[in-house]
Amino acid sequence: MKKQKIISGQGRVIRSTGNSYLIRTEKGDSLDCVIQGKFRQKGSRDTNPVVVGDVVSYMIQEGLVTGVITAISDRQNAIIRKATNLSRYAQIIAANIDQAVLVLSLTAPETPNEFIDRYLVAAESYRIPVYLIFNKTDLYDGALLERMKNMIRLYEEIGYKGLTTSAKTKLNLGELKNILQGKISLISGNSGVGKSTLVNLLDPSLNLATSEISTYHKAGKHTTTFAEMHELYFGGYVIDTPGIRGFGLAHIAKEEIYHFFPEIFKKAAKCKYYNCYHVNEPGCAVIKAVKEGEISQTRYQNYLNMFLDEDLKYRK
Ligand code: GDP
Ligand code: ZN
Repeated sequence: MKKQKIISGQGRVIRSTGNSYLIRTEKGDSLDCVIQGKFRQKGSRDTNPVVVGDVVSYMIQEGLVTGVITAISDRQNAIIRKATNLSRYAQIIAANIDQAVLVLSLTAPETPNEFIDRYLVAAESYRIPVYLIFNKTDLYDGALLERMKNMIRLYEEIGYKGLTTSAKTKLNLGELKNILQGKISLISGNSGVGKSTLVNLLDPSLNLATSEISTYHKAGKHTTTFAEMHELYFGGYVIDTPGIRGFGLAHIAKEEIYHFFPEIFKKAAKCKYYNCYHVNEPGCAVIKAVKEGEISQTRYQNYLNMFLDEDLKYRK
């Protein structure tokens, strides 16, 4: 009998349909893979043992077109979302994200500042650096430009980089390209702020609007979501998600929310009680800092809303 040659290597999962996985191999080829039955059981009860962004080892028999995933490399991070309101299952939707790019606008439509802060909390919890992209600046009047400057100053002081863009006047598109180049970026933002327009301007082959996360219903039991990575011609990938719902807070206990407001967390070390949650406790250094203008009132209010909102909207 002729001995079958087995080829093996490593690659990155760039698309998942639940049954098969499209892999970009180290050599730059595309390869469809499945998971071995045995291997699948090793994944927990979570819906998807292999997700987009995973670095995997594969094997393929010479002459065949479908490979087999044999191992997943340790994840640098993984984004989780609750599968549905009814489901208890948390679901990993993407792994190994280098950065999160939050596209926002101060008008048409305005991004609520609570949306921004919730998003930042989620990103902090995953240790994913965030860029805030203020888009549609061509539409801002004097007052909005002033507000934008203040927001950029506020967020940069906390540690988040800001960039102003306009898809219409092409402002700073080169900078945005530099940010995305060579990285795996999660692109988010409320609907209408210009995510797809910006990315399509940078890489017209992507046609992002038609390729949002797709949702399948599996036997009516729970909803499964698969993200897709879009390869940029100049290097790097973008993953588009429909916003916070795709980037949820399911994994954060309300007692630890303040850990993910960096400026609040820093101050909290000086609170009188170690179990201070900065709501109304005596000797709270955070409340003092808010009163003295050292911590932004808006950020603190958003923290309080998140803490006090027992259901945490995106958690249950
Ligand atoms: P998405 O939902 O975030 O992907 O938003 P889209 O990319 O679909 O953009 C929504 C609308 O805003 C479209 O009509 C775009 O042409 C428009 N738009 C996007 N960026 C800008 C911008 O910088 N300035 C202006 N004036 N309009 C923009
Ligand atoms: Zn406190």
